[in-house]
Amino acid sequence: MKQIDIVVPCYNEEEVLVAFYETTNGIVSKIPDYDFHYIFVDDGSQDLTLHLLKGLSNQYANVDYISFAKNFGKEPAMYAGLSHSTGDYCIIMDADLQHPPALIPEMVLAVEEGYDCCAAYRLNRKGEAPIRSFFSRQFYKVNNALTSTKMPYGAVDFRIMSHAMVEAIISLQEVERFSKGIFSYVGFSVKWIGYENVERTMGQTKWKLRSLLAYAMDGITAFSVKPLHFVSIMGCLISFFAIIYALYIFVKAVILGVDLPGYTSTICLVLFLGGVIEFSLGIISEYLCRIFVEIKNRPIYIAKENTLTSKDKKKKKHGNDKKKKKKNEEFYQINEPEN
Ligand code: UDP
Ligand code: MG
Repeated sequence: MKQIDIVVPCYNEEEVLVAFYETTNGIVSKIPDYDFHYIFVDDGSQDLTLHLLKGLSNQYANVDYISFAKNFGKEPAMYAGLSHSTGDYCIIMDADLQHPPALIPEMVLAVEEGYDCCAAYRLNRKGEAPIRSFFSRQFYKVNNALTSTKMPYGAVDFRIMSHAMVEAIISLQEVERFSKGIFSYVGFSVKWIGYENVERTMGQTKWKLRSLLAYAMDGITAFSVKPLHFVSIMGCLISFFAIIYALYIFVKAVILGVDLPGYTSTICLVLFLGGVIEFSLGIISEYLCRIFVEIKNRPIYIAKENTLTSKDKKKKKHGNDKKKKKKNEEFYQINEPEN
C-alpha cells in the first residue's frame, strides 16, 4: 500500500475540525491502494482545536498532530506538516472545507498518470468580499509581472505532491515563506484543476486586509529583485535630469545674471526628489527587513507537542496496523486459503 499524508494547518477551527475529518475520510477511505494519514498542525489555537485533535488522534490510528507553542501563521504550519511527511505523496489542504475533499480522487489519478503534482485553482470568487478579490487580482498581476514564479489567477495551496517535490520544498529553508512562490520555484510537472469557489460555512476566515497586504509583499520580495533594479534605474534617470537642469540654471545665471524668482520650481523639485528618496528607501527597507529576519536564522516554528515523535503513538499505530490490514483484505475481498 502506498501512503498519502494529508497536511492540514489549523488555527481556531473548533467548529469545523470534526466535520472536516469525517467528510474527508469518507471520501479518501474509498480510494483503493492507498493509506491516508493525517498530519494536523495546530497553529497555536486559542479555542478547542488542540483538544479535538487529541481526541481524533486517540480515536483514529491515521491521525497525528503537531501543536505549535504560539500562532506562527499558515506558512510555518504548512512547512511543519510537510517536513514530517514520509508518504509517497502529500496533500495540503485547509481545515475549513473550502478546499473540496471531493477533488482528492481526481488529484490522486493525476499523480498516477505521472504528474509530480496536481494543484487546484478557483474558477471564481463567488461569496468573497469584493475588496479582497480586487486586491487579489492586482497581486496576481504584479506578481506575475515582477517575478519568474508564474501562477494562475485563483491558485490556492490545495495540492497533492510527490515526496521528491515535498523534499525540494522543505529544502528551501527561508523563514519568511511564501509557499505559492516556492511551489512554482521548485518546478516539477503540475496538472491544474479548477473548482467552483466554496464559501466557508463554519468558523471564520483568519485573514485581515493588513495580513493579506503583508503576504503579497512577502511574495514579491521573496521572488523578485526587480523593485530594487527599478530604484536604481529611477535614481540614474533622476540624477541625469537633475544634472541637465542644474547646467541649465547655471548657464542661465551666468548669461542672464542671478534670477531670484524660482521659488515654485525649487519647492516642486525638493518635494519631488524628497518623495522619490523616501519611496526608494521604503523599497530598500522592505528587503533589509527580510534580510534581518533571515540572518537571525530562527526556527520556522516551535512545537510544544508532536505525536509523530511520541512513543505512545507509535505503539498505538502498530496495534492498529492489523485492523488496517483487515480493512484492505475486505476491500479487495482476499480470501486466504485455509490451512
Ligand atoms: N491558518 C493557520 N494559521 C493562521 C491562519 C490560518 O494555520 O495563522 C489556517 C486555517 O486554519 C485554515 C487555513 O489556514 O485551515 C486557511 O485559513 P482561512 O480559511 O482563514 O483563509 P482563507 O480561506 O480565508 O484564505
Ligand atoms: Mg478558508
